Amino acid sequence: MSKQRPVARGEARSGEPKGSAPTKRAGGGDSSFPFGGLQIDFGRGDGSAPLALPAIDIAAEPATPVPAVGGPGSVAAEAGRTESKLVIVGSGPAGLTAAIYAARANLEPIVLGGTTPGGQLMLTSDVENYPGFHDGIQGPDLMALFRAQAERFGTLVLDVDVDAVDLSGRPFRLWARGVEYQAQSVIVSTGASAMWLGLESETRLRGRGVSACATCDGFFFRDREIGVVGGGDTAFEEATYLTRFASKIHLLHRRDAFRASKIMVDRAKANPKIEIHTNVAVDEVLGDEKVSGVQLRDTETGKRSKMPLDGLFIAIGHRPNTDAFRDWLDIDDKGYLVVHDRTNTKIDGVFVAGDVHDHRYRQAVTAAGDGCMAAIDAERWLESQGIAEATTLTAW
Ligand SMILES: Cc1cc2nc3c(=O)[nH]c(=O)nc-3n(C[C@H](O)[C@H](O)[C@H](O)COP(=O)(O)OP(=O)(O)OC[C@H]3O[C@@H](n4cnc5c(N)ncnc54)[C@H](O)[C@@H]3O)c2cc1C
Repeated sequence: MSKQRPVARGEARSGEPKGSAPTKRAGGGDSSFPFGGLQIDFGRGDGSAPLALPAIDIAAEPATPVPAVGGPGSVAAEAGRTESKLVIVGSGPAGLTAAIYAARANLEPIVLGGTTPGGQLMLTSDVENYPGFHDGIQGPDLMALFRAQAERFGTLVLDVDVDAVDLSGRPFRLWARGVEYQAQSVIVSTGASAMWLGLESETRLRGRGVSACATCDGFFFRDREIGVVGGGDTAFEEATYLTRFASKIHLLHRRDAFRASKIMVDRAKANPKIEIHTNVAVDEVLGDEKVSGVQLRDTETGKRSKMPLDGLFIAIGHRPNTDAFRDWLDIDDKGYLVVHDRTNTKIDGVFVAGDVHDHRYRQAVTAAGDGCMAAIDAERWLESQGIAEATTLTAW
């Protein structure tokens, strides 16, 4: 996308010759120091020297090589353990944060991470709102760091989808690719998948002008002309939100009636930056390296036309990934899992974290926070059942 690209591993920062020696490392390069190998530059711009703890420098080689998500070197290669005090389903920000906390509390968690290891952030490029990365970070790099951190403390991460579960009693039973896993407690963090149009060009240009998250990516389209696809509340909400940044927004809807509430439609109609186009289908997203426009089709006449655009937001909804759990846990009217009292479900010992229940915030940092809470709740519950040793606050 058209935004300042973060510095990649091994690449020099701007103004720094490639291959120049990194500035002082926190801990003096002592690998036993928790922040060893990291270099932080707060970019205060006042000419002062870098602090001892500036910038997680993704330009510097990390102290421990970060395995590619789901790639060689992952603990998945050592699969074999099938029983745990805690099984976490999902390996997005929620699941892997839960794993970091649980592993550090000696629960030796197993993460059944699904066939989209890393979750939704694997589908995007620059993430600029995750705290701690002041230059931003690529979504896949961020998730590789999450995973390396979870594995460092002994989490077993397996890139398999859970197909079925039996939560009728303990140990809880979960099946993935024909293998049965048993757990004294479970955290469900299976996320929600953004729905896409299903075009090859849309997939190719994801993170290069195509997005499904206005809150995350709207900022990158300041003074640009963009499209929003959809006709429900989400599309109207996102179009209205995007008027803060974009110079013009074309709302593209394939029917002439909207599912969105009248108030949302009226608000959009009153906004001079939003132009609503009905009876148009997006047949193609145009552009090689980045979005340059869309190929439209009039759904009544079949007439085709091109519309130049700098970006395209797909706002046709999300599908929470609940298939394996829907017979066991409460589901709300939008299809999301229901939590009772923070991260609990109606089944003792089964917890929920992240976008699979949260359709309000849908951010990596909120999902990660949820994962932390679910792990602490699970650990305390296991402790109350005499399954986990009592921890002290310092364990977290
Ligand atoms: C295009 C895009 C850009 C975004 N950009 C940003 C951004 O810049 N900043 C930000 O904060 N947020 C961003 N988000 C939102 C953010 O990605 C999500 O809020 C966050 O990833 C939710 O985390 P999660 O762990 O709850 O779920 P997810 O990230 O959705 O992860 C779900 C995990 O569950 C697994 N899973 C699903 N079903 C099963 C199953 N049956 N068995 C086992 N595993 C399963 C999947 O494989 C996946 O690993 C973006 C989202 C999108 C789509």
